[in-house]
Amino acid sequence: MRPDGDPPDWTQSSAGKGPAGKGSAGLALARCRACGHVQYLRRPFCPACGGEDLAVEPASGRGTVYAVTAVARAPSPDLQAFAPYGIALVDAEEGFRFMAHCPAEGVAIGAPVRTTFRAFGAGLVPFVTPEDLS
Ligand SMILES: [Zn+2]
Repeated sequence: MRPDGDPPDWTQSSAGKGPAGKGSAGLALARCRACGHVQYLRRPFCPACGGEDLAVEPASGRGTVYAVTAVARAPSPDLQAFAPYGIALVDAEEGFRFMAHCPAEGVAIGAPVRTTFRAFGAGLVPFVTPEDLS
């Protein structure tokens, strides 16, 4: 939760420049103007230096798989229709790590991936696929 009480929006760059253009879904990052540290989680400050001057920028969506697992039993009955599905931790090329959905099979640790977005339940989630399958 942000200090203003709104839940963080993980799918929209506040710069309004998702991969498909203005207003489309896209990963966003916050870069500290004081020290250059990059973060994905929304915080009103930089965890590296404590600075509060952050610039939100669109991220490329490209990265490398750090870890991956398959979910066979969804956390709620309404999401069970999506199972099995994959969940990956991805190291973005800009230097932050993020969680994304992925195919249940065919995504390996160390694989280069790119990010799109897919409907999942009531929202959109980041969805990564290997670069060589896209
Ligand atoms: Zn900083």
